[in-house]
Amino acid sequence: MNNYTCIDVPFNSRHTCWFCGEPCSDFLDFPANHRNVSDISHQPLAVPSCNECSSFKTTSGVKSIWALRDQIKHQLMSKYAKHLGIGLNWTETELKESDFTGSVLGGFGKSAWPMYQIAKERIAYKGWPITIDELPLDGYDETSGFTYDGTRYLSLHTCIDYYVKSLSLDKDLLTQAVDIVTPERFGYALKIAKLNKFISAQERSQILEELLLQESEAAEANLELEKQSRQCTVPHPNLKKVTISGTVATTESIQWALDRKVKTLDDLCRLEDDFFDDFEHLGGTGAFLAYNGLQLYLEARENPTWVERIDPNAEFWVSYI
Ligand SMILES: [Zn+2]
Repeated sequence: MNNYTCIDVPFNSRHTCWFCGEPCSDFLDFPANHRNVSDISHQPLAVPSCNECSSFKTTSGVKSIWALRDQIKHQLMSKYAKHLGIGLNWTETELKESDFTGSVLGGFGKSAWPMYQIAKERIAYKGWPITIDELPLDGYDETSGFTYDGTRYLSLHTCIDYYVKSLSLDKDLLTQAVDIVTPERFGYALKIAKLNKFISAQERSQILEELLLQESEAAEANLELEKQSRQCTVPHPNLKKVTISGTVATTESIQWALDRKVKTLDDLCRLEDDFFDDFEHLGGTGAFLAYNGLQLYLEARENPTWVERIDPNAEFWVSYI
């Protein structure tokens, strides 16, 4: 025992492991050896910890209690990868309906889901904010690590390792797929790896080539879309949208009409195709509604009294056309 100060323990969390949420009666000293006190970024601490979490070997050079937590979670993940894999490979209903019989498989069907849930809860458990005599401990770096599907991993690499292990995935495929689609779209890379578990080196490079091509095509399409949206009509800031019988003539569509000198329903009818081309980005229904709104607006404008009394854009039609 090093006689470190114990962190504050909320009443509801008495006898709870700060790392995994399991019941516990003991404390973990951090740093384990008091000669390492000067190596860590905060004061030495005693933290409630279950026997299992306390038993994990951690690497030296761990600078904070949160970094230690990441390492312990990582160990839990590796240890329970099989249990966690149950939830990734099966749904609870599938397990219930699986009709496993026999001593081994029957037991699997019954206990698999609870085992998965326990493992998942322990990994996801976040502990409580660390305070000592009600003063918060500084120095937590939220930016380190990698989060996917609500679970924080020591790093992107750890997350990849975890999925590779629990789902028996092709590690090179997942790693390189993440590289191509970026870690932000980890879920997508994971899907590809799940669909292609047992592959030859040749199949792997084929999949990756296709993925690369697909990504560069998507990037090009995005550029094109951006270009198009820049060509889109930018309405004059003083233009007002007009609502007639619940249908809206948007400022974009009114500006479009002004730019093309579309004054009447007949004018609009002649340029109907152009309108739908130019408002394609709204989708079929959106473009149709915009067209309909403009139709109703132009129809209303056939009445000079309406124009004079109600049309909020009357002056634009005078000055533009
Ligand atoms: Zn624990």
